[in-house]
Amino acid sequence: MTIDEKVEGLIRPEIRALQAYHVPDARGMIKLDAMENPYSWPEELKDEWLEVLRQVEINRYPDPAARALKERLRAALAAPADAELLLGNGSDELIQIVLLALARPGAVALAPTPTFVMYEQIARTVAVRFVGVPLTADFALDLAAMRRALAEHRPAVVFIAYPNNPTGNLFAAADVEALIREAPGLVVLDEAYHVFCGESFMDRLGAFDNLLVMRTLSKQGLAGLRLGILAGAPVWLAEFDKARLPYNIGGLTQASAEFALAHPAALEAQAARIRADRDRLYAALGAMPGVRAWPSRTNFILFQVQGRAAADVFTALKQRGVLIKNLDGPGPLQDCLRVTVGTAHENAAFLAALEKAL
Ligand SMILES: *Cc1c(COP(=O)(O)O)cnc(C)c1O
Repeated sequence: MTIDEKVEGLIRPEIRALQAYHVPDARGMIKLDAMENPYSWPEELKDEWLEVLRQVEINRYPDPAARALKERLRAALAAPADAELLLGNGSDELIQIVLLALARPGAVALAPTPTFVMYEQIARTVAVRFVGVPLTADFALDLAAMRRALAEHRPAVVFIAYPNNPTGNLFAAADVEALIREAPGLVVLDEAYHVFCGESFMDRLGAFDNLLVMRTLSKQGLAGLRLGILAGAPVWLAEFDKARLPYNIGGLTQASAEFALAHPAALEAQAARIRADRDRLYAALGAMPGVRAWPSRTNFILFQVQGRAAADVFTALKQRGVLIKNLDGPGPLQDCLRVTVGTAHENAAFLAALEKAL
């Protein structure tokens, strides 16, 4: 038997059919492709942080329940007193934990599409069938289509990114509420962009026994840390906790996140700057001939190029040292690209490169 035949005989077909998540090489580029916060911390803050890390007992396993960090998070997230928190190595791991726990034979995960690709990617790795329900032409939830899909597929979980990636808009709260009420299973409301948007269902967790609210520190300048948070009723989270590996949040991550959350003003100042620069970038894109930009409640902007192929614009930008995300494909994102809000200087460089590319 050749090694290829062995691979084919052993690896599950749904894994073989997947493509590994592709991260392009961005060395030396202005990196505006991954919704990262472009700012570092002030040097004094970094020194203080490193002093905190010095105290971490790296020879010991971390607190498996991350109790001190969770207490800080409760306050920072304004989680209701009767909600529990579950921490993941990024929201990605939380999505994986939820899907692992729900992966009965025939289980379905559903999401309005286009949306965050990890819902489908992770569902497929754990053999949960993924059903995507197209958004309307203006990227709103298609309630009628969602209702039909809920009835037909009876999903164990519905993922809703609030606001949505890659479209950047916030769905109407009344539509989201209707879906939470009508979903036969769980609804995970992914509030990854909360700091750029302000709207949340966190304070309404207690009103729905099938709602879980997910947050992350990734979009707050801590993408390198990998910390996601799932909030919800203790009975749900106790089950999910069994599917979590005991030491999934390392000691350095726990200490660093606690430190960051103890300095909310520094994080909020960066977020405020990004929100203001986003609005400027949106105005500049909107004023550019041959570009259609969509309003954003996130730290990125979706735009469409007219009269030029998105792939060509993407390549031309790359040649000028600016990396964004090409979303072009058949369907609603035809000739669409997504740019993350960077520093004012990076945004200007992007706009100049785009003007030349068009
Ligand atoms: C960026 C993003 C995340 C973040 O995932 P992490 O694993 O926490 O870095 C989660 N959800 C959505 C919709 C996102 O766009």
